[in-house]
Amino acid sequence: MPTDILSAPAPVRLPLSGDGPQRFFPVREIYCVGRNYADHAIEMGHDPDRDPPFFFRKDRAHVHVGDGTIPYPPATQDVHHEVELVVALGQGGHDLSPDAARAAILGHAVGIDLTRRDLQAEAKALRRPWDLSKGFANAALVGPLVHVDQGAPDPDAAILLDVDGETRQSGRLDQMIWPVAETLSALSRLVELHPGDLIFTGTPAGVGPGAPGQTMQARIEGLPPLTVMLDGAP
Ligand code: MN
Repeated sequence: MPTDILSAPAPVRLPLSGDGPQRFFPVREIYCVGRNYADHAIEMGHDPDRDPPFFFRKDRAHVHVGDGTIPYPPATQDVHHEVELVVALGQGGHDLSPDAARAAILGHAVGIDLTRRDLQAEAKALRRPWDLSKGFANAALVGPLVHVDQGAPDPDAAILLDVDGETRQSGRLDQMIWPVAETLSALSRLVELHPGDLIFTGTPAGVGPGAPGQTMQARIEGLPPLTVMLDGAP
Protein backbone atom coordinates (compact mmCIF):
# COMPACT_ATOMS: atom_id res chain seq x y z
CA MET A 1 0.00 0.00 0.00
CA PRO A 2 1.46 3.43 -0.86
CA THR A 3 2.41 5.59 2.07
CA ASP A 4 1.12 9.12 2.23
CA ILE A 5 4.03 11.18 3.51
CA LEU A 6 1.62 13.93 4.45
CA SER A 7 -0.14 11.67 6.94
CA ALA A 8 2.08 12.56 9.86
CA PRO A 9 3.27 9.59 11.91
CA ALA A 10 1.94 9.34 15.42
CA PRO A 11 4.28 10.91 17.95
CA VAL A 12 6.37 8.52 20.00
CA ARG A 13 4.92 8.51 23.49
CA LEU A 14 5.72 6.58 26.65
CA PRO A 15 2.87 5.74 29.01
CA LEU A 16 3.38 7.16 32.48
CA SER A 17 2.55 4.68 35.21
CA GLY A 18 0.46 5.97 38.08
CA ASP A 19 -3.07 6.49 39.24
CA GLY A 20 -5.73 8.53 37.47
CA PRO A 21 -6.18 9.12 33.76
CA GLN A 22 -3.44 7.65 31.56
CA ARG A 23 -0.81 10.24 30.74
CA PHE A 24 1.92 10.04 28.09
CA PHE A 25 5.42 11.42 27.77
CA PRO A 26 6.27 12.61 24.23
CA VAL A 27 9.79 11.57 23.23
CA ARG A 28 12.05 14.17 21.63
CA GLU A 29 15.72 13.19 21.38
CA ILE A 30 17.42 10.03 22.69
CA TYR A 31 20.95 10.28 24.05
CA CYS A 32 22.96 7.32 25.28
CA VAL A 33 26.08 7.12 27.43
CA GLY A 34 28.87 4.74 26.47
CA ARG A 35 30.83 2.63 28.96
CA ASN A 36 29.42 4.04 32.18
CA TYR A 37 30.01 0.98 34.38
CA ALA A 38 33.59 -0.07 35.10
CA ASP A 39 32.97 -3.81 34.70
CA HIS A 40 31.34 -3.26 31.30
CA ALA A 41 34.24 -1.02 30.18
CA ILE A 42 36.63 -3.84 31.10
CA GLU A 43 34.62 -6.49 29.23
CA MET A 44 34.71 -4.26 26.13
CA GLY A 45 38.50 -4.03 26.40
CA HIS A 46 38.89 -0.54 27.88
CA ASP A 47 40.32 0.95 31.04
CA PRO A 48 37.56 1.94 33.45
CA ASP A 49 39.12 5.31 34.08
CA ARG A 50 37.18 8.44 34.68
CA ASP A 51 37.48 10.02 31.27
CA PRO A 52 34.60 12.38 30.64
CA PRO A 53 31.46 10.52 29.57
CA PHE A 54 30.87 10.14 25.84
CA PHE A 55 27.53 10.05 24.10
CA PHE A 56 25.76 8.77 21.03
CA ARG A 57 22.17 9.05 19.86
CA LYS A 58 19.33 6.85 18.82
CA ASP A 59 16.36 8.04 16.80
CA ARG A 60 12.99 8.23 18.48
CA ALA A 61 11.60 6.33 15.49
CA HIS A 62 13.60 3.38 16.86
CA VAL A 63 11.70 3.27 20.16
CA HIS A 64 9.67 0.21 21.03
CA VAL A 65 7.36 0.95 23.92
CA GLY A 66 6.69 -1.64 26.59
CA ASP A 67 6.44 -5.41 26.52
CA GLY A 68 6.02 -7.36 23.31
CA THR A 69 7.67 -9.24 20.47
CA ILE A 70 10.01 -7.58 17.99
CA PRO A 71 11.51 -9.00 14.79
CA TYR A 72 15.13 -10.11 15.07
CA PRO A 73 16.96 -7.07 13.60
CA PRO A 74 18.24 -7.20 10.01
CA ALA A 75 21.85 -7.38 8.79
CA THR A 76 23.28 -8.88 11.97
CA GLN A 77 24.08 -12.25 13.54
CA ASP A 78 24.93 -10.80 16.95
CA VAL A 79 22.30 -8.62 18.58
CA HIS A 80 23.31 -7.72 22.12
CA HIS A 81 21.19 -6.62 25.06
CA GLU A 82 22.31 -3.72 27.25
CA VAL A 83 19.99 -3.11 30.21
CA GLU A 84 19.99 0.55 31.23
CA LEU A 85 18.30 3.04 33.50
CA VAL A 86 16.49 5.52 31.26
CA VAL A 87 15.76 9.01 32.54
CA ALA A 88 13.14 11.27 30.97
CA LEU A 89 13.49 15.05 31.15
CA GLY A 90 10.62 17.35 32.03
CA GLN A 91 12.81 20.44 31.72
CA GLY A 92 15.73 21.42 29.52
CA GLY A 93 18.58 23.85 29.33
CA HIS A 94 22.27 23.89 28.73
CA ASP A 95 25.30 24.14 30.98
CA LEU A 96 23.19 22.65 33.76
CA SER A 97 24.76 22.08 37.15
CA PRO A 98 24.35 18.54 38.49
CA ASP A 99 21.68 19.85 40.88
CA ALA A 100 19.78 21.58 38.07
CA ALA A 101 20.10 18.47 35.92
CA ARG A 102 18.69 16.30 38.71
CA ALA A 103 15.75 18.70 39.05
CA ALA A 104 15.03 18.38 35.32
CA ILE A 105 14.27 14.65 35.59
CA LEU A 106 10.56 13.89 35.18
CA GLY A 107 10.71 10.13 35.45
CA HIS A 108 12.59 6.85 35.18
CA ALA A 109 12.16 3.68 33.15
CA VAL A 110 13.96 0.45 32.41
CA GLY A 111 15.37 0.27 28.90
CA ILE A 112 17.40 -2.00 26.66
CA ASP A 113 19.96 -0.45 24.32
CA LEU A 114 19.83 -3.08 21.58
CA THR A 115 23.11 -3.23 19.67
CA ARG A 116 24.20 -4.96 16.46
CA ARG A 117 27.56 -5.88 18.01
CA ASP A 118 29.03 -7.37 14.83
CA LEU A 119 28.35 -4.18 12.88
CA GLN A 120 29.75 -2.10 15.73
CA ALA A 121 32.95 -4.16 15.93
CA GLU A 122 33.46 -3.92 12.18
CA ALA A 123 32.90 -0.16 12.21
CA LYS A 124 35.31 0.30 15.11
CA ALA A 125 37.98 -1.80 13.38
CA LEU A 126 37.63 0.23 10.18
CA ARG A 127 37.37 3.52 12.12
CA ARG A 128 33.98 4.17 10.59
CA PRO A 129 30.96 5.66 12.35
CA TRP A 130 28.99 3.02 14.26
CA ASP A 131 25.66 4.78 14.59
CA LEU A 132 23.79 2.17 12.52
CA SER A 133 24.95 -0.51 14.96
CA LYS A 134 22.92 1.38 17.56
CA GLY A 135 20.21 2.90 15.37
CA PHE A 136 17.65 0.60 13.71
CA ALA A 137 14.02 -0.32 14.18
CA ASN A 138 13.30 -1.34 17.79
CA ALA A 139 16.85 -0.53 18.92
CA ALA A 140 15.58 1.51 21.88
CA LEU A 141 13.35 -0.66 24.07
CA VAL A 142 11.70 1.34 26.86
CA GLY A 143 9.41 0.20 29.66
CA PRO A 144 6.70 2.17 31.44
CA LEU A 145 7.83 5.55 32.72
CA VAL A 146 7.45 6.22 36.43
CA HIS A 147 6.98 9.88 37.33
CA VAL A 148 9.31 11.10 40.08
CA ASP A 149 6.18 11.96 42.10
CA GLN A 150 5.49 8.20 42.18
CA GLY A 151 8.99 7.37 43.39
CA ALA A 152 12.38 6.67 41.92
CA PRO A 153 14.81 3.76 42.10
CA ASP A 154 17.17 3.83 45.07
CA PRO A 155 20.69 5.03 44.25
CA ASP A 156 22.00 1.49 44.81
CA ALA A 157 19.07 -0.35 43.20
CA ALA A 158 19.84 -3.63 41.44
CA ILE A 159 19.84 -3.57 37.62
CA LEU A 160 19.41 -6.94 35.93
CA LEU A 161 18.76 -8.60 32.61
CA ASP A 162 17.58 -12.19 32.17
CA VAL A 163 17.48 -14.17 28.91
CA ASP A 164 14.92 -16.99 29.07
CA GLY A 165 14.98 -16.74 32.85
CA GLU A 166 18.77 -16.91 33.19
CA THR A 167 20.44 -13.82 34.63
CA ARG A 168 23.02 -12.43 32.21
CA GLN A 169 23.56 -8.90 33.52
CA SER A 170 23.59 -7.93 37.17
CA GLY A 171 24.80 -4.72 38.73
CA ARG A 172 23.80 -1.80 40.89
CA LEU A 173 23.03 1.76 39.85
CA ASP A 174 25.72 3.11 42.21
CA GLN A 175 28.34 1.33 40.08
CA MET A 176 27.95 4.04 37.41
CA ILE A 177 31.26 5.81 36.73
CA TRP A 178 29.29 8.99 36.06
CA PRO A 179 26.16 9.31 38.20
CA VAL A 180 23.01 10.43 36.42
CA ALA A 181 23.13 14.10 37.49
CA GLU A 182 26.77 14.46 36.43
CA THR A 183 26.07 12.65 33.14
CA LEU A 184 23.21 15.04 32.34
CA SER A 185 25.33 18.03 33.34
CA ALA A 186 28.13 16.91 30.99
CA LEU A 187 25.65 16.25 28.16
CA SER A 188 24.12 19.71 28.63
CA ARG A 189 27.49 21.27 27.88
CA LEU A 190 27.47 19.54 24.47
CA VAL A 191 23.85 20.07 23.45
CA GLU A 192 20.88 21.97 24.76
CA LEU A 193 18.58 19.56 26.53
CA HIS A 194 14.81 19.76 26.13
CA PRO A 195 11.68 18.46 27.80
CA GLY A 196 10.95 15.13 26.14
CA ASP A 197 14.56 14.01 25.91
CA LEU A 198 15.44 10.47 27.04
CA ILE A 199 18.88 9.49 28.28
CA PHE A 200 20.09 5.87 28.39
CA THR A 201 22.64 5.92 31.20
CA GLY A 202 24.88 2.95 30.36
CA THR A 203 24.95 -0.77 31.07
CA PRO A 204 26.65 -3.05 33.60
CA ALA A 205 28.74 -6.07 32.61
CA GLY A 206 27.29 -9.18 31.04
CA VAL A 207 26.17 -7.83 27.68
CA GLY A 208 25.65 -10.63 25.21
CA PRO A 209 23.52 -11.99 22.42
CA GLY A 210 19.85 -12.70 22.29
CA ALA A 211 18.81 -15.32 19.76
CA PRO A 212 15.56 -15.54 17.80
CA GLY A 213 12.87 -17.01 20.02
CA GLN A 214 14.53 -15.85 23.23
CA THR A 215 12.92 -13.53 25.73
CA MET A 216 14.80 -10.72 27.45
CA GLN A 217 13.57 -9.36 30.75
CA ALA A 218 15.13 -6.12 32.00
CA ARG A 219 14.64 -5.11 35.62
CA ILE A 220 15.59 -2.30 37.97
CA GLU A 221 14.41 -2.51 41.58
CA GLY A 222 11.63 0.03 42.06
CA LEU A 223 10.54 0.21 38.40
CA PRO A 224 8.19 -1.93 36.30
CA PRO A 225 10.09 -4.64 34.36
CA LEU A 226 10.37 -4.78 30.59
CA THR A 227 9.91 -8.10 28.75
CA VAL A 228 10.62 -8.38 25.03
CA MET A 229 10.90 -11.46 22.82
CA LEU A 230 13.07 -11.61 19.71
CA ASP A 231 11.14 -13.14 16.83
CA GLY A 232 12.22 -14.49 13.45
CA ALA A 233 15.46 -15.80 11.99
CA PRO A 234 18.78 -13.95 12.13
MN1 MN B 1 24.41 1.16 26.02
